[in-house]
Amino acid sequence: MIVVMQTDATEAQILRVQKRIRELGFKDHPIRGVERSVVAVLGQVFPELVDELSVLDGVDTVIRVSRSYKLASREVNPYDTVVRVGGLEIGSGKLVVMAGQCSVDTEEYVLATAQAVREAGAHVLRGGAFKPRTSPHSFEGHGQKGLKILAKAKTKTGLPIITEVLDPRDVDAVCQTADILQIGSRNGQNFPLLKEVGRIDKPVLLKRGMWATVEEWLLAAEHILSQGNRNVILCERGIRTFETATRFTFDVNAIPLVKRESHLPVIADPSHSTGRWYLVEPVALAAVAAGADGLLVEVHQSPDHALSDGAQSLTPDNFARLMERLRGLGEALGRPLHPLAEQQAAPAKAS
Ligand code: PEP
Ligand code: MN
Repeated sequence: MIVVMQTDATEAQILRVQKRIRELGFKDHPIRGVERSVVAVLGQVFPELVDELSVLDGVDTVIRVSRSYKLASREVNPYDTVVRVGGLEIGSGKLVVMAGQCSVDTEEYVLATAQAVREAGAHVLRGGAFKPRTSPHSFEGHGQKGLKILAKAKTKTGLPIITEVLDPRDVDAVCQTADILQIGSRNGQNFPLLKEVGRIDKPVLLKRGMWATVEEWLLAAEHILSQGNRNVILCERGIRTFETATRFTFDVNAIPLVKRESHLPVIADPSHSTGRWYLVEPVALAAVAAGADGLLVEVHQSPDHALSDGAQSLTPDNFARLMERLRGLGEALGRPLHPLAEQQAAPAKAS
């Protein structure tokens, strides 16, 4: 349910509505828009609540929200959410590219890859220190040691870091290094983890569960938003279908659909959906043409030596080519690449 305030409602009237919502045993979630403010009512609402809230000063209308996801929906918040990471604005109409290794391996490789993606124009460095692996016998990441390597790469290149968190108990430690926390596909319904990252104020990139419908994906976002963290970025990374020729099936439909349903930024991951490096560029361009706000791409200085996902990792040269093509496509679409932050544009310091 949302309480739509009159366009000239005062701050005091909005606060009074919030207070009344809490007195009635619900959670309030104010959204201050340019033209009007609304206050979302969270909890098991009942029809009589409409009358309770309609009579308050400054209230225009009280509307029941039809979607199962509320805070993630445009019904509740029609304004595009822009997630800020330093000087970067994700979801602002300018394309943002996050690139780097699947997993953090050696310091040498991570620094070389970081340098290469920075030079090609990436905005954010990716790299997994905690790796979710289908088999417990596969490389599960360097953990804390991996975070230290990422921190070094950040200092050297000025690139902000996105890295995955698997365990609610690691959220604080990962926050020390990460500028964006990644929730992986396999954790799309790990509700304690979603709630935990909802209690911080760092941006969270939420991958679509490989088995998740669009509604389930947006409800996963709702778990994060409902705890107070509004900095959620969605990421389409492919879903499981009968097709086995590619690793997953990239759901290009989901991009314009989710952009229409939700105000949250949407990023595309063409690496995990395809599983093959030579399919990454065409799918990346298709995703951007369909409306994605940016990309999350795996790149490795030496894909043959990657400890995970080498087959889908681009070489630095192939990544640079993708960036060139993206630059052209972005200009043609009127959604150019986001300018690089100052520290990225400056030459890297010698080690
Ligand atoms: C990853 O980004 O390396 C990863 C494990 O992705 P996903 O959760 O989409 O499989
Ligand atoms: Mn990977």
